[in-house]
Amino acid sequence: MQETMSPAAAELPEIRTRTDVPFTIINLVTTVAPLVLVFYYHSRSSIVAFFVCYVVFGLGLTVGYHRLFSHAAFRVPKWLEHTIAICGYLAIQRGPLFWVAMHRLHHKYVDIPGKDPHTPKEGLWHVHFGWTHERRSDVWDPMIYRLLVPDLLDDKLYRFMDYEATDYVAYVLLNLAAFLAGGALGLPGAFDTHNAICFLVWVGMLNRVALLHAFGFINSVCHLVGSRPFRTKEGDQSTNNLLVSLLIFGEGWHNNHHAFPGSARQGLRWYQIDPSWYVILLLEKLGLARSVRRVSPRVQERKLRKPRPAPEPLAEVEARQ
Ligand SMILES: [Zn+2]
Ligand SMILES: [Zn+2]
Repeated sequence: MQETMSPAAAELPEIRTRTDVPFTIINLVTTVAPLVLVFYYHSRSSIVAFFVCYVVFGLGLTVGYHRLFSHAAFRVPKWLEHTIAICGYLAIQRGPLFWVAMHRLHHKYVDIPGKDPHTPKEGLWHVHFGWTHERRSDVWDPMIYRLLVPDLLDDKLYRFMDYEATDYVAYVLLNLAAFLAGGALGLPGAFDTHNAICFLVWVGMLNRVALLHAFGFINSVCHLVGSRPFRTKEGDQSTNNLLVSLLIFGEGWHNNHHAFPGSARQGLRWYQIDPSWYVILLLEKLGLARSVRRVSPRVQERKLRKPRPAPEPLAEVEARQ
């Protein structure tokens, strides 16, 4: 598949995209399979483990990949940074270098078709899921997209996580670990094969799918449906959406986030539930997070969309003329 820039953008380098067919097939199979298998394989312990992993891996992405790595909204000691990175990596959505590079491109070219990696202006399938199957000529080569993350490049762990082969190995090992844990946690004194498969389905496979789509909702729903209390860049369609915030730890306050991307807190009002912020606040109270960036009410006020004054009644205008 080839895509050519419009003549108006002739000064920009031509961006070509192609579909990564092997990855697309693997992604679709490992997405559909657990959605079918959960009806045949489920146990109380596997469902509990699913929710625990959803929280731990999900916070690894929201607190770590997003607020810490992409936006440097706070700082933590290296050992904790690596721990958070590993939690996020277990969601199997690529390593921090690729994830952060794509996210920085999203903020830089927000909602510009062909430049923003995921915008609803290129269709719902593309923004929610399809973009992960595409390889863009301007960023696909690691040597190119790594230019977007100079602050993370020195870290050997992040460079190791950046190889696609590492992702596949991590995914297989995660499934194996889930299988073994499920087997060990089932029948007392014996390996419980049924519970092992339940864990494989719920923890190894379904968890990745759930988190992938939760982030898909941020990219799709939070650029289409919801409120826009703050002024953002021209063309930026970001919205605040409570349901997405509840689903993925406060990341649904996306208009707030696009207005103040460096803020560690995205639910800027007391009633805007933001679990990722509560975790950062707890880390700060424990003395583990420092340089936590906040946005003062005065700065917020300056970006608020002001309601337009109501037009004067026509009769009064005519009476003055
Ligand atoms: Zn966005
Ligand atoms: Zn962001």
